[in-house]
Amino acid sequence: MGGKQPDESAPVAVRKDTGARRVLRAFRPEGTRVQAGPVEVGGTGFVVMAGPCAVEGVEQVDRTAAAVAHAGAHVLRGGVFKPRTSPYAFQGMGEPGLHLLAEAGRRHGLPIISEVMETSQLPFMVESADILQVGARNMQNFSLLRALGKVRRPVLLKRGLSATLQEWLLAAEYILEGGNEQVMLCERGIRTFETEIRNTLDLAAVAWAKQRTHLPVIVDPSHATGQVDLILPMSLAAAAAGADGLLIEVHPRPEQALCDGNQALTPEHFQTLMQRLPPVLDAVGRHLWRPESPAQVVRAR
Ligand code: PEP
Ligand code: MN
Repeated sequence: MGGKQPDESAPVAVRKDTGARRVLRAFRPEGTRVQAGPVEVGGTGFVVMAGPCAVEGVEQVDRTAAAVAHAGAHVLRGGVFKPRTSPYAFQGMGEPGLHLLAEAGRRHGLPIISEVMETSQLPFMVESADILQVGARNMQNFSLLRALGKVRRPVLLKRGLSATLQEWLLAAEYILEGGNEQVMLCERGIRTFETEIRNTLDLAAVAWAKQRTHLPVIVDPSHATGQVDLILPMSLAAAAAGADGLLIEVHPRPEQALCDGNQALTPEHFQTLMQRLPPVLDAVGRHLWRPESPAQVVRAR
């Protein structure tokens, strides 16, 4: 036994190749389908997630759920933990709000998506939410991303306010590396020198992410523009650019909204948007998502 023994005190070798790998298209060329309750994201069906920025109360969330379900939305959104710029702004209803959202989703047959801000919220969020949203401000919260790698719930990962495409992909890589491959990317506008529009919607990033990765890509035209009159044209543009779905803020009374009222569509405006999508989707070989088999209808809640 003349061989040299390994030196146990030596530092563990650091991998030289630190780039994204599991998120890359080559890792799964056929593309990933994300299963959110009964709804599948990433196939030919285009998925619309809609609802209030924040859950504010039982009547508000129920009216919104009824309206977006009636218009043909597939998933109900609603924040109960709100990452607000000011500590004096409405911070969300917390866990009780999550139960109102889940109840409204059940009543109107829609799975729900809600934002998780910290690891301590995961146990009850996993119980009630069909999709866990990671907000733009948390895209590089690495301990949260690692924890999300360990749960069995789909994750929608928003692009950070000033995140490069590589940073966005590597954030997703944390979740996949942890063992959760049910990840969707969400382009929600980035911060640029422009001040007239809330953010700059990077639609090239959508086409880029579809080509480079196997993950579904969702566009949030509400936070990307911050203006109701820009949401319809940007939704149609996102569909044409190859997005797999939309995340849109809707409020029954936008002028009374506790959060992001300026960008909230009324139910009527949202219905118009839903009616304008099909011809654009048709032009790119897509259609609004619908259950494909009776089995999926039975599983819908
Ligand atoms: C939201 O979806 O309500 C939200 C806070 O979005 P973002 O993280 O993109 O700002
Ligand atoms: Mn919002």
